[in-house]
Amino acid sequence: TGSAGVALEAVGLTKEFKGFVAVNNVSLKVEKGTIHALIGPNGAGKTTCFNLLTKFLQPTRGKITYAGRDITRLAPAEIARLGMVRSFQISAVFADLTVLQNVRIALQRTRGESYDFWRSEKNLTRFDDEARSYVAEVGLSEFLNHRAAELSYGRKRALEIATTLALDPKMLLLDEPMAGMAQEDVERISTLIRRIGETRTILMVEHNLSVVADLSDRITVLARGEILAEGNYAEISKNPEVIDAYIGA
Ligand code: ADP
Repeated sequence: TGSAGVALEAVGLTKEFKGFVAVNNVSLKVEKGTIHALIGPNGAGKTTCFNLLTKFLQPTRGKITYAGRDITRLAPAEIARLGMVRSFQISAVFADLTVLQNVRIALQRTRGESYDFWRSEKNLTRFDDEARSYVAEVGLSEFLNHRAAELSYGRKRALEIATTLALDPKMLLLDEPMAGMAQEDVERISTLIRRIGETRTILMVEHNLSVVADLSDRITVLARGEILAEGNYAEISKNPEVIDAYIGA
């Protein structure tokens, strides 16, 4: 596929911490409309790479483009406005607010309305239909008026994804979406990610290899800060270097 199909691209991405090279000359392309996974053994540089791509860290060297635009120097809020949104951890959900209220607040942020605007009951409920549609998209309609604190861990994650969808992203970056999940929740969130991926580009860091195998169109394997392999799951899983890196970790 040509460059018209690329959503996110990194060229020569490098991050040094006081001389220690955590990410070394990484170049990767995430094609539009795909689910792309970043995997690798512990210490491979996945988190650092993810933080570089989402602009939470500045690279020592290298360039990042999104939708053909140089975003290397942009802040996370600026790239969110371009349609590339990082999904935050569950801690970003307000425990004492209901599911509906949490999504409503995310919409408030997106719409950039003033605080006073939201003090009026009429305005407050103006976006409720839209908020409900995101709640429905993540399968939480029956929990609309439950406090977030009452939800299971997996459903909190689904709520957190709903607040991300309220930002209307074209691309989502998910940081270990299955971390800490029970199997039942893993299945629920997998189904959700697959459905979200039908209309959006997704890049995720994920440890659960069966989830990665199940969901990913393309996988980049990192080891010791460098790209070890790239391909679909069938390709990377029979690559001897990949097997060695996982066993040796
Ligand atoms: P992964 O997410 O694949 O486990 P990380 O990106 O967290 O890997 O870490 C890659 C390497 O970079 C590790 O050796 C880690 O100790 C080092 N590292 C990560 N962050 C920092 C930092 N802020 N300062 C120094 N070293 C770091």
